Amino acid sequence: MALVFYDTLTKSLQPFTPLHPGEVRMYTCGPTVYNFFHIGNARSFVMSDVIRRYFEYRGYKVTYVMNITDIDDKIIKAANEEGVDAADIATRYAKAFLDDAARFGIRPADVHPRATESIADIIAHIEGLIAKGAAYEVDGDVYFQVNAFPEYGKLSGKNIEDLQVGARVEADTRKRNPVDFALWKAAKPGEPWWESPWGNGRPGWHIECSVMSQKFLGQSFDIHAGGNDLIFPHHENEIAQSEALTHAPFARYWLHFGFLNVDNEKMSKSLGNFFTARDILDKYSAEALRFFYLQTHYRSPLNFVHEGLDAARTGLQKLQSLYDALGEAGEGTATLDVPMWEQRFIEAVDNDFNTPAGMGVLFEFTREANARLHSAEGLRSEDRAAARDFLTRSAQGVFGIVRPAGSAADGAADALVEQLMELFIALRTEARKDKQWALSDRIRDGLAEIGVLLEDSREGTRWKRKQ
Ligand code: AMP
Ligand code: ZN
Repeated sequence: MALVFYDTLTKSLQPFTPLHPGEVRMYTCGPTVYNFFHIGNARSFVMSDVIRRYFEYRGYKVTYVMNITDIDDKIIKAANEEGVDAADIATRYAKAFLDDAARFGIRPADVHPRATESIADIIAHIEGLIAKGAAYEVDGDVYFQVNAFPEYGKLSGKNIEDLQVGARVEADTRKRNPVDFALWKAAKPGEPWWESPWGNGRPGWHIECSVMSQKFLGQSFDIHAGGNDLIFPHHENEIAQSEALTHAPFARYWLHFGFLNVDNEKMSKSLGNFFTARDILDKYSAEALRFFYLQTHYRSPLNFVHEGLDAARTGLQKLQSLYDALGEAGEGTATLDVPMWEQRFIEAVDNDFNTPAGMGVLFEFTREANARLHSAEGLRSEDRAAARDFLTRSAQGVFGIVRPAGSAADGAADALVEQLMELFIALRTEARKDKQWALSDRIRDGLAEIGVLLEDSREGTRWKRKQ
């Protein structure tokens, strides 16, 4: 059986066939960086991360792109409130996003493009739309002309006439049609701007994602994902802007994540009913949070309650104990049909990334394996190794809920380790700045001895545990 999942565009379960055999090119809408992200955003980022990992587990080569929206009304507003530049706000929270995502066990994307680094591409795309008669300029603003794209509404199921009725109330008389939307916004006093053929201004939000996805994944690519709230208008507009220019299908499959709710209301910054990822990660481990998310299907709403995280902790402990026990030496005669269990796991998750069913299989497997392991015969060593290998690739590799070192999941201890590591990295960076090579080497080598590896890149230094 092939991997199937629900595609928002066709509104049906679709078997997955990639554009390039063996490859998956996937884009997920990333954060607008004006604040710390909350555990509602994190649900979307974690589910997207798990889907990416699952494709890899199933043998695909995945190219995964997640943008960072680093220019936007909300960023400008936050900057004005603090009396700093919009760029300062964006830099600060983009770093916080990458740090917190790493603490969540979310693997960095292959590319995290930033809107402000793609301005030339955005301008070229808009010029192309104007040349095709699909966009027009009014006093330094550029709008997409929705009527120029007859398929508008195909993702969200909305139709232009209905939208027009709604939009007329707040009609902007400069637009040819009230549903037309901004591609480029003329600079207002005190706002950041870039030069363009239409005067100084900045890009609209929707166009950023059309341009950055195609820049790194090609005109047509496999999967575009994001939270449910992005279907309309964001993703609808992305399709219009892209296909009106290329006349080729934009994303071939659309994946949307259900909300994390609090008392049946969407967790959101504007409602103020949120917990930031960093606050929760000081109290609970990333594994417990991931476990909590994975117990609900990615399309269903999920209500956040602290008891859910406590229950997740207990469940995790069972998996982790088995994983650790399988890693210990031991000889026995009882057998375990690990390939059969793995087949069941694949069948479960292949069906619309049904992670709750996948978790169900892992727990049944845990019961069976424990029974053999702790029986008088003991588990024979090749099955013990196969079982551990299966958990390494599934519970750890795909779900990210089992730890390699086997240390007990403990949020507070994790947070301390994280803070200590930040301190070590900062000290080493200072030492390197002062050309104190002996000291910086001593820090790196000393950490390596206790199993911690440092990796330097343009974004800075990250750490990881030696496998
Ligand atoms: P934002 O930073 O608001 O643009 O959101 C970043 C991502 O998080 C988008 O994919 C949103 O759809 C998603 N998101 C926002 N709030 C929630 C929520 N309560 N539950 C799940 N996903 C969310
Ligand atoms: Zn987007």
